[in-house]
Amino acid sequence: MKVPVQEDSSIQNENTPDAPGRHRRRASTGRRATYLVLGAVALVALGLGGVSVATADRGTPAPAAVDFDARARAEDAARADRSVRESIAPVTPSATPVSPSPSPTAASPTPTRTATAKPKPQPKKTVKPKPSWVIPMKGATITSCYGPRWGTLHAGIDFAMPAGTPIHAAAAGTVVKAGDAGDGYGNSVFIDHHNGYLTHYAHQSRLIVSVGDKVSAGQVIGYEGATGDATGPHLHFEVHQGQMWNQIDPAPFLRARGINVAC
Ligand SMILES: [Zn+2]
Repeated sequence: MKVPVQEDSSIQNENTPDAPGRHRRRASTGRRATYLVLGAVALVALGLGGVSVATADRGTPAPAAVDFDARARAEDAARADRSVRESIAPVTPSATPVSPSPSPTAASPTPTRTATAKPKPQPKKTVKPKPSWVIPMKGATITSCYGPRWGTLHAGIDFAMPAGTPIHAAAAGTVVKAGDAGDGYGNSVFIDHHNGYLTHYAHQSRLIVSVGDKVSAGQVIGYEGATGDATGPHLHFEVHQGQMWNQIDPAPFLRARGINVAC
């Protein structure tokens, strides 16, 4: 019984890479047998202990297996976590030099939002553009056209509607005159359309624009009235070419811009 154990232990001792044991063997080869015996005894003791432990473990194999599994899983998880961290790590430094801002995490989502917000204004482009010229008082009865009247020149077109009807700018432009100048036109508005033409809206009961206002085509500028030299509520509408008080016939002018008036 002792002999196979010694042989086994001696083989194990030879294989054991124990540095101090080798040094001692070189120093005194005479005591080698003694050391071998002592080593064998120690190894046998260790082996027995190991066997006893193994036997004890074998008696309850389930918990040991569970412990091993748990440890392996923990190690796997740690490795996976590390690999995730390592995979994220190269992304962060590559993003950092691209954006020199101190907060790259805050800067990176911003372009994405801007990119998603950019397509939104595009539908605005598809919105139908407003007509450049509109009739200043829709559905009105024309009571006087441009031309000689009562021995003088009637220099505009009269649109009649009930008093207080809104008056619309015939086209976009800038209000260059607004108020009652005491010249017979009553409360009147001049709009410069910045294309060599001005329009004039007279006899209004109330004005809601002032000099310098930018107006769009169809925007309400005031309300129909009978201020100034007027026999009843109506809009006296004029077109001035090149400069103020150079009135032209508004009918062909409007017709050329898609607005048909019965004159
Ligand atoms: Zn008139």
